[in-house]
Amino acid sequence: MLSDSFLCLPCVWWNGCPRGRTVVCARLSDSLCDVKLQEFQAKKLFESGGIPVPRGMTAGTAVEAASAALQLGTDRVVVKAQVLVGGRGKAGGIKVVLVPKAREAAESLLGKPLKGFMVNTVLIEPALSIAQEIYLSVTLDRARHRAVVMASGAGGVDIEELAVKSPEKIVTAHADPAVGLRGFQARQLAYDMVATAGLDWAEDRISAFAGIVLKLYDVYLRYDCSLAEINPLVVTADGKLIAADGKVDVDDNATFRQPQLVAQADRRHEDPDEIKAKEAGLSYIRLDGSIGCVVNGAGLAMATLDLVKHYGGNPANFLDIGGSSNPAKVTAAMQILSGNASVKAILFNIFGGITRCDDVARGLLEALSRTEVKIPLVIRLTGTNEAAARELLSAAGMKAHTQMDDAVKEAVAAAERR
Ligand code: GDP
Ligand code: MN
Repeated sequence: MLSDSFLCLPCVWWNGCPRGRTVVCARLSDSLCDVKLQEFQAKKLFESGGIPVPRGMTAGTAVEAASAALQLGTDRVVVKAQVLVGGRGKAGGIKVVLVPKAREAAESLLGKPLKGFMVNTVLIEPALSIAQEIYLSVTLDRARHRAVVMASGAGGVDIEELAVKSPEKIVTAHADPAVGLRGFQARQLAYDMVATAGLDWAEDRISAFAGIVLKLYDVYLRYDCSLAEINPLVVTADGKLIAADGKVDVDDNATFRQPQLVAQADRRHEDPDEIKAKEAGLSYIRLDGSIGCVVNGAGLAMATLDLVKHYGGNPANFLDIGGSSNPAKVTAAMQILSGNASVKAILFNIFGGITRCDDVARGLLEALSRTEVKIPLVIRLTGTNEAAARELLSAAGMKAHTQMDDAVKEAVAAAERR
């Protein structure tokens, strides 16, 4: 996402966290929050909100694609791979072809990976004759506690790249949460964008654009989005505005209100371990290090990641088994971590408050009896029912540290040796 300010979920530090946890935090806020929709699904929401979109049809086979292309009744169509990644155009996932070639274009995309994601569906639309490409999105500005609309005349390109290279080309408007986005703000945004991009727009196009801004804001609110984005919003050769691409992410905190969107979401694009963890009631985020961490409580989990880094290691994940005493969660956590080839050592860090150390120990022993763990396991536990936990572990020939520092150092050293 574009915004360089965010609220770190577990520890509630604002942007510029004094402990420099930004990488983990950015990943957390991104991955925990969003249910991502495919372009064709996003466009349906846009359409229901009155935003102009191309007439489109989806196809799962080349034959279906060919017949869809015929039904659209144009001579040229665009065949678009439906995968949840940006930059499909550059990667060859968007093909503008004459109708008789639609079948071939679909064949070249379907059943093959695009940027690592399998293409199961293509979207067929009449090809647009593009005069200009505009960027338009609504997202949450966490630092200002309100939704922000962002627009740029330099659309079509990667917005993250634009934000870094030419931030002055992006104009914004913030919606007051009490009154929503006002009409005059949408018009001002249009004038600002036209001025910065040097576009020659007449009054009617300004109005049409401002109307789309308000409608996109409505979609953003109605569907509890964390992001609603049109990139590009195309100005066609005959002067019309139309959403040529669509991206909608639904805030995970609101999924209970949006069951119809959650049901549509294609979970195949999500990390299978993250899905498994969610089902087991764990907060799990994959990171790219080698030390698998099993911790109770998000704050302690963050502190553990910090300490792993401090002693020169790299965490393989954030994992919070929660505050409750539930051996099943420990078992699930162990299965996820021991199935991950990049994990070279597993670090248990349990502070027994509500969580009872003996329950965790029992879960751990149960997990070990079910799954063979071939990598070093380092345990630290202290707090409620600690003595009982130590007894259980030592009966199984295992020891546990009391101090977090000792356990982390040992885990880092163990991972390094492998
Ligand atoms: P993305 O690369 O994943 O963002 O996919 P887009 O749907 O944004 O398409 C990428 C680019 O394809 C657009 O920015 C356009 O420049 C180009 N394109 C060319 N012709 C068409 C057309 O008829 N429809 C669409 N949607 N894009 C087109
Ligand atoms: Mn796009």
